[in-house]
Amino acid sequence: MIDGKARAALESLLADRAEFDVPLARHTSLRIGGPADVLATPSDRDELSRLLSLCAKHRLPTRVLGAGFNVLVSDDGLEGVVLRLKKLRSIERIADDVLSVEAGASHATITNFCIKHGLSGLEFGAGIPGTLGGWLAMNAGIGVRELKDVVRRATWMDASGALVAPVERERLDFRYRELAGLPRGAVLVAAELEVDVSERTTVKAEIDRLLAHRAATQPTDIPSCGSVFRNPAGDYAGRLIEAAGLKGTREGGAEISSVHANFIVNRGGATARDVLTLIEHARRAVADATGVTLETEVQLIGRETVDNGGASR
Ligand SMILES: Cc1cc2nc3c(=O)[nH]c(=O)nc-3n(C[C@H](O)[C@H](O)[C@H](O)COP(=O)(O)OP(=O)(O)OC[C@H]3O[C@@H](n4cnc5c(N)ncnc54)[C@H](O)[C@@H]3O)c2cc1C
Repeated sequence: MIDGKARAALESLLADRAEFDVPLARHTSLRIGGPADVLATPSDRDELSRLLSLCAKHRLPTRVLGAGFNVLVSDDGLEGVVLRLKKLRSIERIADDVLSVEAGASHATITNFCIKHGLSGLEFGAGIPGTLGGWLAMNAGIGVRELKDVVRRATWMDASGALVAPVERERLDFRYRELAGLPRGAVLVAAELEVDVSERTTVKAEIDRLLAHRAATQPTDIPSCGSVFRNPAGDYAGRLIEAAGLKGTREGGAEISSVHANFIVNRGGATARDVLTLIEHARRAVADATGVTLETEVQLIGRETVDNGGASR
């Protein structure tokens, strides 16, 4: 709950860019999630800094929501202030082979920028829906390439709103689907990405090829959160779940996809509780059959949920 003083301070700083009791189901790709106490959309870096300082002063917990493509938000919602950076979305070419991109820029605007300017290297991101902030926090990638391969440096604000000097790639602790070591409450604001000069048609052809492959192998036309589990060393979570015979298993409105077993889809009216039940079911079945304990990739966040930890907490 937000007390009266904190609410007044938020309204004074953000006006209608602070919304209260907002159902997060509208802001997640799974279409699941109870209300955030506050959903805040700062208009620029300066306002983000002042907002973080205000939250620190009033002891309001914060959590960044990118485009919500890899989160499972509790049915009971989220305490405190959910930050959306969709207004911090500039993309600038600061050298022939370097882009400076703000964290709220979407996968589509980044890859379209690359097509328009004939720049290669980021084609793999075209099918990884989200924002640069989410890409960085998750070290998003496909088999052959991850964010860590293209990031030159990244910048964040600490929980008090102070901007940290750009941190070089060598000092960023990218791991499998994780950027470890970010200070608690840090908000990624921008990164420099390396690209190569190429031809528009070549870049577009590679993007089209990757998107066609995805459409053929993943349930892209129904709400999901992408991969639910991380792949265990030397194997694939989807293969293990499929081998356990769980494709098509349903709980309420949630279903283990019959197209790709590492996806849980929302067939309509699914709750976070339904999805968590399927997650536990798959974990148990795979452990019983193979001895492998699957770890979640999707970020479980919010009240009354087992939170598996996210970069921005
Ligand atoms: C159909 C589909 C296919 C997918 N395919 C892939 C794939 O091939 N490879 C892959 O890696 N992922 C894939 N994903 C998952 C998802 O696209 C990625 O994890 C993406 O990076 C999420 O970005 P987002 O902006 O939506 O982040 P969110 O889901 O909103 O957030 C994810 C985490 O990042 C944190 N975060 C977001 N922004 C910031 C910030 N600015 N500062 C600090 N923390 C932040 C959040 O707090 C949260 O912990 C897929 C998802 C879907 C739905």
